[in-house]
Amino acid sequence: MSDDVATTAHFENRYQRELPDTYARVSPTPLKNPRWVAWNSALAHDLNWPHPPDNDLLHAFAGHGLLEGTKPIAQKYAGHQFGAFNPDLGDGRGLLLGEWNDGQGQHWDFHLKGAGKTPFSRFGDGRAVLRSSIREYLGSEALHGLGIPTTRALALVGSDEPVMRERLEHGAMLLRIAKTHIRFGHFEWFAFSGQTGKLEQLLNFCVTHLFTDCSRQPDPAAALFDAVTVRTAHLIAHWMSTGFCHGVMNTDNMSIIGDTFDYGPYAFLDAMQPGFICNHTDTSGRYAYNRQPDVAFWNLQCLAQALAGIADQSALRDSLSRFAKHYNERFLELMGARLGLATVMDEDQSLIRDWMQLASDETVDFHRPLRALAETEASDWATLDDDYVDRDRFRRFRQALAERRQQEPGGQTLALASNPVSILRTHHVQAVIDACEQGDDSLLHSYLAALQSPFDARVEWQRWRQLPPPDYQAQPLSCSS
Ligand code: AMP
Ligand code: MG
Repeated sequence: MSDDVATTAHFENRYQRELPDTYARVSPTPLKNPRWVAWNSALAHDLNWPHPPDNDLLHAFAGHGLLEGTKPIAQKYAGHQFGAFNPDLGDGRGLLLGEWNDGQGQHWDFHLKGAGKTPFSRFGDGRAVLRSSIREYLGSEALHGLGIPTTRALALVGSDEPVMRERLEHGAMLLRIAKTHIRFGHFEWFAFSGQTGKLEQLLNFCVTHLFTDCSRQPDPAAALFDAVTVRTAHLIAHWMSTGFCHGVMNTDNMSIIGDTFDYGPYAFLDAMQPGFICNHTDTSGRYAYNRQPDVAFWNLQCLAQALAGIADQSALRDSLSRFAKHYNERFLELMGARLGLATVMDEDQSLIRDWMQLASDETVDFHRPLRALAETEASDWATLDDDYVDRDRFRRFRQALAERRQQEPGGQTLALASNPVSILRTHHVQAVIDACEQGDDSLLHSYLAALQSPFDARVEWQRWRQLPPPDYQAQPLSCSS
């Protein structure tokens, strides 16, 4: 990092300049007695962030005073929640502080989550609690470690401020970083409230700053929608191939750039259960693991409706019709890599489907058997037969895979690089939260390190590789906790 670059890095406020009258200006409500819980030095480095995590920064990230150049706002948006349109949404507990121009050609939203009430808080207190902030920090670092597009967290600040949830908890603030916080719901708000001029401004913002290729297209709105469709399909393929369940795929939680966004009651599957529901308020299973591709498609339809007034409608329909193809191709590619197949040929599809079906019929762990296949030479795969009730069925599968792998010289290396050793598991997250709530952040830092290098089997991370006990019951998790 040259001095030159460092001096040009600074905050800008492009969203509020280019989209006037679409937000509320709000100052953060400070948190009492803040303390550092986590600081993401790797991300700070990538952002070319010059300030060390000292007391001044702690206070700024706890809402005491503003960083130079920031002008916090709460963005207004709408969205479909559990299938119903809600026009009353917006940043109810988070503020966009500013857009960090890193002096290296990239802007980053600095969003302070848990920063207090805004005009969009409705019945909420505007706060985030330590438990849910730890979940978001760990979740976003875990997905990033696996190469899945996601928002990230630069810092987590705890406090002793009491915040009421199902029980009394402690308030916290999370400094969330993303290339943008624009959601499908931003488009829905302007379209469905009849603000076509604002919709066009938002489109311009997106194609100028985020999807620059689209600005040169004859129909930028249709081009944007096509690009969003592709990114969303690829994101969901990533989730499905790693056993990630988001839990609240409302359109206000869908990032326009295809990041994993708004970590709530999410979970990675332990046992392979396709109908797994991680959100205990989701009684119908709308957001179950195996519903995610369909829900993403449904959400894209909402976005297409919002764009219908400013884009060619047949182009929007064409993009939607290609969603399944984009999704399937990427899913097969990612699952193929997990099985050590660098290119997925037509015949490989049945091999991949066979594995998914076998894993779910046997309810084996989603992750561990794939890692075991990667770590074991194909000639020794018979040693794994005992892990399955239907040994013959597994034997047929592994023999077919071994035969196919003969044409893949780099197959084992690819499989080892595609199957994580450390995975984010709900029971470990709970242990980390319990320790942090007692003031001990050491488990958090150990688990974070393991998840940031998920393919690295270090001895000191052994504890994080343990499966949940057979009788483990995850605590119920809902949205907005
Ligand atoms: P979520 O379920 O977290 O995506 O939130 C849905 C909506 O509720 C968003 O508009 C949030 O800003 C708002 N919200 C969630 N929790 C709170 C809270 N504690 N205080 C104020 N608003 C909230
Ligand atoms: Mg949300």
